[in-house]
Amino acid sequence: MTDALRADIVEIGRRLWMRGFVASNDGNISVRLGPDRLLMTPASVSKGFMTPDMMVVTDLEGRLIEGAPGRKPSSEALMHLVAYRERPDINAVVHAHPPLSTGFAVAGIPLDRAVLAEVVTTLGSIPIAEYGTPSTREMADTVAPLIKAHDGVLLANHGALTIGRDLYSAYYKMETIEHFAQISLVARQLGREHLLSREEVARLQGLRGTYGIAAPAPICQDPEPGSAADPSCQVVISPEAPGERLVPDSNFAPGAVSVGADGEIRLTYAQLTELIDEAVRQLAQKGPEG
Ligand SMILES: [Zn+2]
Repeated sequence: MTDALRADIVEIGRRLWMRGFVASNDGNISVRLGPDRLLMTPASVSKGFMTPDMMVVTDLEGRLIEGAPGRKPSSEALMHLVAYRERPDINAVVHAHPPLSTGFAVAGIPLDRAVLAEVVTTLGSIPIAEYGTPSTREMADTVAPLIKAHDGVLLANHGALTIGRDLYSAYYKMETIEHFAQISLVARQLGREHLLSREEVARLQGLRGTYGIAAPAPICQDPEPGSAADPSCQVVISPEAPGERLVPDSNFAPGAVSVGADGEIRLTYAQLTELIDEAVRQLAQKGPEG
């Protein structure tokens, strides 16, 4: 069985590298071998060119149990250990730096809007774990509270982490997150992001049961953007009613007033001047005692 898992890690590493989800020696992959045993990628190797004999075996504290001479566990193993500790139901962890998801993580924009039915049904939302220096305990601690209710997490100014019942399930979630980030970016560049309604999100959540999709946690009732996160549910941002726009449309037409998601209105200099002139004109008409 270990041989098959070693081969799976090699194949997933190759896919991560081929798709540009990692550069240089970035990223790491691990899988449970037993109650206190993990098989994981070693430190300092390109994930695109691994061989099965490179993998190391550790315990759940990250101590090296077995490995070829000179091979050490990944420097980011701590993050994996936290995921296994918090989620006894999962058996595999994948970490990479896919450029679009990582771009959202750098911008501080979580992938938590009800945009794609498929994503709402499977992953729910992908929140951002606060920044922690990579490979430190601090980094691992920022992941712990979020990994309880999510199978995918963005890591601020760093990358993404996914978990699953097996290696391929964890890897496919990484693909889904990057694909979701790409679609979200295009929709935002086009200036329109129509969200699924709260009602539709509830219907999609119902499908999880119907199709036996293992979701780590339910979607939060009435999630309020900006409110303190409830660690036991997933925040999926969706408008109350169909057709209601949570995110106002904006576009690039000259002269258009753009409204940001935070309610901030952006005006050109000419538009601002026009508004001031109009206000002055109205004041002048009313006279000083108005
Ligand atoms: Zn990393």
